[in-house]
Amino acid sequence: MNPLPLNVASLQAYQSARSLRKGEGWIFMDANESPLAYAAVPAALPPLNRYPDPTADALRDAVAEYYGVRRGNLMMANGSDELIDLLVRCFVRSGRKTAAPTPSYGMYRIAADSAGVDFVVARLRADFSVDENALRAVLDNADLLFLCSPNNPTGTVVPRESIERLSAAFSGLIVVDEAYGEFADAEGVPSSIELVRRGAENVVVLRTFSKAFAAAGIRLGYCVADERIIDILLRMKPPYNVNVLTQATGLDLWRRRDAMERNVCELIAARKVLAGGCERLGCSVFPGRANFFLLRPPKGVSAQTLHESLVENYRIVVRRFPNVPKMEDLLRVSVGTPEHNELFLSSITKLLP
Ligand code: PMP
Repeated sequence: MNPLPLNVASLQAYQSARSLRKGEGWIFMDANESPLAYAAVPAALPPLNRYPDPTADALRDAVAEYYGVRRGNLMMANGSDELIDLLVRCFVRSGRKTAAPTPSYGMYRIAADSAGVDFVVARLRADFSVDENALRAVLDNADLLFLCSPNNPTGTVVPRESIERLSAAFSGLIVVDEAYGEFADAEGVPSSIELVRRGAENVVVLRTFSKAFAAAGIRLGYCVADERIIDILLRMKPPYNVNVLTQATGLDLWRRRDAMERNVCELIAARKVLAGGCERLGCSVFPGRANFFLLRPPKGVSAQTLHESLVENYRIVVRRFPNVPKMEDLLRVSVGTPEHNELFLSSITKLLP
């Protein structure tokens, strides 16, 4: 075999707690999924012998109607991860850069590495807010900027005015990843979908069925953007990227948005109870606007020790960031079922001094 392309040779396979901890009895509060398994494959399914609609138009129409945009402003994908990958491959030219704040979602770098383009970062401030000047300073020679709002793993939102200022100042694309957007919607945070509706030409908004809709298993995400951007993405995507079962289930879930909205309120309320409980135990908490929160254990207890004790004694898995600067001392906790949340609180009560 010939040597691999350099960018491919250095790629690392994606690792999750799912691949490291197989078997029964684990309590996963590490991947920001919904703990409420209310989504189900609908009873009446289309025949499976035919390929799916290549552009998932029934879904696009339903989502477009809700947001007051056109079908041509939307594309459906095999999870928003597929869109992150397609966006970099479509819009970042060879020798140019992809930018993002750090810490943020790990797939942005993987997409840039896979495409063989440089990835540059601007550090978030100490309170995890976006530093606009630091970002502008890395945008020279960049074609695309990812902004995650609410941000994974910090939960912080990027203010609408910052996005508008950056969109006016930057000639490349601004991709606002709103994977946790439904949680922010419920707390009155404005979505950047409004900017697309008002005609912003370089803003792309990503959303997913994996979090608030409790359907990470079907792999369905979408983006909202100017029609010319969608047109280019559609040319690059694989022909049948969203399968028949996913299209049917997604449409059913979309029609039952009220169930999603009720669950979102329930999860936000549970996040507040969990975060409050952790604070009472002496942890510092960064509550954020998503279905997770960051916590710093009290003085004298390391994030590593607390993480290991939770795994070993209670089979509870939360997320640790040993290799992310400024995050080494923090744990990210995804809100679980009421039962798991209680178990989490009673476990850390026993583990903390
Ligand atoms: N963006 C962010 C910020 C995420 O946290 C995730 C999931 N971890 C994704 C995108 C990917 O979501 P999907 O399941 O739609 O591929």
